[in-house]
Amino acid sequence: MDARQQILDWIEADRDKLVGFFSDFLAKPSANPPGDTSQAAGFVAEYLRAEGIDCRIIAPQAKMPNILAVTDGTGPGRHLVFNGHIDVFPVGEDEQWTHQPWSGDIADDAVWGRGASDMKCGTSASVLAYIYLTRLRDHWPGKLVLTAVSDEETGGEWGTRFLLDNHAEDCIGDCVLNAEPSGLSSIRFAEKGTLRLTFHINTPGAHGAYPHRSANANRIAASLIADLDHLNDMAVPMPAEMAEYLAQPEVRACMDTVMGAGAADVALRVTASVGVVHGGLKVNMMPGHCRIEVDIRLPFGVDRTDVLAEITDILKSYPEATLEVQEAASNPASASDPKHPMMSILKRVIAEHSTHRPEAIAGIGATDCKFFRYKGVPSFVYGPSPETMSMPDEHVPIDDFLHVLRTHALAAYDYLTAEAIG
Ligand SMILES: [Zn+2]
Repeated sequence: MDARQQILDWIEADRDKLVGFFSDFLAKPSANPPGDTSQAAGFVAEYLRAEGIDCRIIAPQAKMPNILAVTDGTGPGRHLVFNGHIDVFPVGEDEQWTHQPWSGDIADDAVWGRGASDMKCGTSASVLAYIYLTRLRDHWPGKLVLTAVSDEETGGEWGTRFLLDNHAEDCIGDCVLNAEPSGLSSIRFAEKGTLRLTFHINTPGAHGAYPHRSANANRIAASLIADLDHLNDMAVPMPAEMAEYLAQPEVRACMDTVMGAGAADVALRVTASVGVVHGGLKVNMMPGHCRIEVDIRLPFGVDRTDVLAEITDILKSYPEATLEVQEAASNPASASDPKHPMMSILKRVIAEHSTHRPEAIAGIGATDCKFFRYKGVPSFVYGPSPETMSMPDEHVPIDDFLHVLRTHALAAYDYLTAEAIG
């Protein structure tokens, strides 16, 4: 039997069932925050068990269960890990959806719902590819592991990071495939780092008519926010090899195409986005406290200490302000080798059954691949378009979903069975 052809035949024959899985998965709310993913994780675990696959539930937080499943092949070989997340962005109260966010509607040749793109399409692909490869376990050597985690959107402490720290034997392998939204014409081998900060501005506060009694915490916050813009101009001592790679015209063009015009430049610099401003109780009370939370993204070559030094300097003008680092959500930039054999396997598989010719690029957002890369494991992302990610009417075309599934299943098979690998 030709195992590769068997995978393609199954995907063809099971089309409705596969789309049904993706749709049903979307219909299980798993917004994080608040982060209760038990329904969605339970759905995945039950599906695996119905397929005769043993999986372990690892839940360091009771309502955020992670799924870990391990299949051994015919003998010693490479160890590949599929990684995806179950939790998704929340839905804002004012968002206007044509297809309800937790509907999993199948309409207009697409599957709709919160998390369709980020990343229930990708996690569905990992789960379903894992099932097919487990059925074919007599045809490949090595070890294949599925990790479907419930804490990605708020930092990963109870998800991938926990699995790597506590189940290293299964989870730290030779290579990782992840299907976060990359866009079908790019494969991600690197990503920027994150530094999340909370500033508290404290003043005595006063009646709104008595500005002579206190400084206004909101006004100070506004001025501090304006000063934080300087971070965008920080010098970036990016290692030459990475800088040269990201300067290639085809790489830049690809980054702008899949992440929006301007993304290739954003990848090269520090960015600071003020995500939360919270100050004041009532219009005629002068606020004595304002909290601002800032999301800083670090390009390769910039360490958090560089940014914190810059901020310490800025804060000299703001004695009313204190600073806290949100440690669980702050992580350095990470990269794998864009010439790793998995990259050529992915490119070949994608070219084989589609018209896409992806470039290897760096992401400007974050994925759980960073945790694997910190452990020295080459990790790659190939998934659907990020275009509707975290927006109302998030959706993924059915053909794209099936393409991602085919790619991950065949690339995993080829990686595990390749005679020699660099
Ligand atoms: Zn994601």
